[in-house]
Order: sequence, then C-alpha cells, then structure tokens
Amino acid sequence: MENSTTKNNPYFSRTDRTPLKVSNDEWKKILDPDLYAVAREAATERPFTGKYNDFTGLGEYYCAVCGNHLFRSDAKFSSTCGWPSFFEADKQGVVYKRDNSHGMERIEVLCKRCESHLGHVFNDGPPPTGVRFCMNSISLDFVPDADKK
Ligand SMILES: [Zn+2]
Repeated sequence: MENSTTKNNPYFSRTDRTPLKVSNDEWKKILDPDLYAVAREAATERPFTGKYNDFTGLGEYYCAVCGNHLFRSDAKFSSTCGWPSFFEADKQGVVYKRDNSHGMERIEVLCKRCESHLGHVFNDGPPPTGVRFCMNSISLDFVPDADKK
C-alpha cells in the first residue's frame, strides 16, 4: 500500500531512527492536508472510516509521516471503538504525553522520531498488556510481510 505522502517526503525512512526536528511549516508543505491535521494538529479521524480499522493483514505498521516502525500486526486486535487498535507498541517507536484536552484525561501517543500525533492509549485493552493503543489509520503506513525482502 503506497502512501501518497512518502513520495515527496525527504524525511521518510523505514530504517533511520534519528529524531527529526522539522517545523510544522515544513511539514505543511510535505504532508497531505488530512494527514497534517491529524499528525501535527492532533485531529481525530471519524470512527469506522479509517482504512486500517477492519484490516487484518500481516505485516508492519510504520509512521505515515516519517516511516518510523510503530506496531507489528500481531499486536492488532479487533476492537469495537472504530479505530485500529493495538495492545503493544514498538518501545523504540512511540512516546507518551499527558493530554488534558476536550475535558478528558488521556495519554497521547506520539511518534518517537517525528513527534507526530498518532492517537491515544487506554487501560482497557486485552491481555497480555491490558492496554489499547487507539490509533488513527491515516497516521499509519502498512507494509505487508510479503513485501519484505
Ligand atoms: Zn514519525
């Protein structure tokens, strides 16, 4: 699945994990407006609309903004919340931030490399971790195992 944002994005790399320092002005020139709104302005896509919500392919999920590895499909589970959900993230892939917006106390999940907004993490997930990473599909870039050389 080719992500349109990867084409004109000089920062995109699935192997380089060096943290990026790129301004939002710069990202705005590179990213699709829909991705920019979620990744850089913490918008949330509408539930049950994302391309990975009901998706069960085997492979790896990367950050749609920078290519950083975030999740393995083994950690994805079918949740009823309307967004792709995972019970475990790549520890090198994500960082957390307290989010008190919209009158809620939530933990925001950000990409460790580019600090883009990915979604939130909640404590109502399945075993073995008991957590639910509730992600925006648009923030994810999936690469099927079949494409791995
Ligand atoms: Zn990223």
